[in-house]
Amino acid sequence: MAVQRPRIPYGRQLIEEDDIREVVDCLRGDFLTQGPRVRGFEDALCEATGAAHAVAVCNGTAALHLAAVALGVRKGDIGVVPAVTFLSSAHCLRYCDADVEFVDVEPDTGLVSLASLETTLRDLGARGRSPKVVVPVDLTGQPADWSRVNTLARRSGARVLLDAAHSLGATAEMGGAAKRVGESGADAVTLSFHPVKHVTTAEGGAVLTNDEGLYRDLVELRTFGMHKDPARFERDASDPFVGPWYYETKVLAFNYRLSDIHSALGSSQLKKLSRFVGRRREIARAYDAALDAPPLRGRLSPLRRHAGRESAYHLYVAQVADAGSVESTAAERRKLFLHLAERDIHCQVHYVPLPWQPYYRALAGSDGGVGREYPGAAGYYAASLSLPMFPRMENAEIDRVIEALRQWAE
Ligand SMILES: *Cc1c(COP(=O)(O)O)cnc(C)c1O
Repeated sequence: MAVQRPRIPYGRQLIEEDDIREVVDCLRGDFLTQGPRVRGFEDALCEATGAAHAVAVCNGTAALHLAAVALGVRKGDIGVVPAVTFLSSAHCLRYCDADVEFVDVEPDTGLVSLASLETTLRDLGARGRSPKVVVPVDLTGQPADWSRVNTLARRSGARVLLDAAHSLGATAEMGGAAKRVGESGADAVTLSFHPVKHVTTAEGGAVLTNDEGLYRDLVELRTFGMHKDPARFERDASDPFVGPWYYETKVLAFNYRLSDIHSALGSSQLKKLSRFVGRRREIARAYDAALDAPPLRGRLSPLRRHAGRESAYHLYVAQVADAGSVESTAAERRKLFLHLAERDIHCQVHYVPLPWQPYYRALAGSDGGVGREYPGAAGYYAASLSLPMFPRMENAEIDRVIEALRQWAE
C-alpha cells in the first residue's frame, strides 16, 4: 500500500503570529485603505531596497503597467523583453498598445543575453524603430547584468524598467559595491508580493524609483490620475467652482492602490526579508551539494551563477543534462517532473517562452518579429525544473526531494 506523504509545493508563504496581529490591528483601526500603513510599507520598501521612492500597488502586474505608462510607453512604441519570463513583463507593454520585441536568454541562467540584446537594439535602430523601454528580468532571483543592460538600453535611447519580482533581497556588484534592486540604476523597478514571492501581502506589488518626477507621476496614475495641486489647475483659484475639495485630472488612469490591510501584512513580512532569503540560500546550498555528488552529478545541474551576483532564490532551477536535442531534453525533464509529482513533490516550470504563446505568435506578423528564433530560450525551457523552495521548508522535506531526485537518477 502506498504511503500517504504530505504534498510539497514549489513555493508557499510563511505567515507568523506577529503578521496576523498586524493585520488584525489594522482591521480594528480607522483606515482600511489610504491610511498611514501604506506609507509605512513604502518607507520600509525604500529601506530594504535602497530606492529613494516606492509606490505600493495592488499587484506586480499593475506595478509593471503603471511603470510603463509613467515611462511614456504609448501606442506604436516598442518595448524589449526577454523571451523567458512571466507573462506580465510583456503584457504591461501591450496594455499600453506598444509592440513587444523579444530577445533571447542565456540557456544556462535564463537571464537576458547581452549579445541578443545588442543585436536586437542595433536592428531596431537600423529600422528607425528604437525602443522606448527595455525590460530586464532578474529571473529566479539572480540579477541580470544591470550595468550592461542599462548602458545598452540608454545608448539606443530607451529607458529601463527592471522586473525584480524574483530578486528582492538579491545583490549585484556595481562599481565595487554590492547593490540592491533599488540601486540597480534602472529608471523604474517593480516588485510582486504574491504568496510565492519573498514576502507577501496576498496580492500586492510596488514600483521603486530614484526619479522624483517619475515618482509624482506614479502616485497620480495609481489614483485615477487625480491631483489637488492648485498650481497645476486649469481653473483659477478665485473661480467659485474651485475650493479645498477641488481636483482635476488630465489623463486616463487607474485605481491600482494597495489597501492598509495588505500594507500591514507587507510591513510585518518585510522585517523578515533577510531571514527568509537566508533560509532560501541555505536550501539552495543543500540542493547544490546534492547535485554535485553521485548519482546526480552530470544528470542535473544548478543554473550558472555570474560572479559578483547573490541570488535571492525566488526559484531554485535545476536543469537536466542535454539529451542530444531540445526535444529529448524536454522529454527527460517531463519524466523527472512526473516522477516527483508521483511522490507528492510538486515542482513547476518557469516559464513557457513568451514568443511561443499563441497570443504573441499572432502578433509577431505585425512587428517584423516573424521567423525570429530563440535557441537560448528553447534550451532553457526544455531543461529547467523549479524545485521546491520556500522559507518554511523543513530539512526533512529537503531530504525527501533530494532522495526522490536520486531515485530518478539511479
Ligand atoms: C510574479 C511576477 C510578476 C507579477 O506578479 P503579480 O502576480 O501580478 O503580483 C511579474 N513578473 C514576474 C517575473 C513575476 O514572477
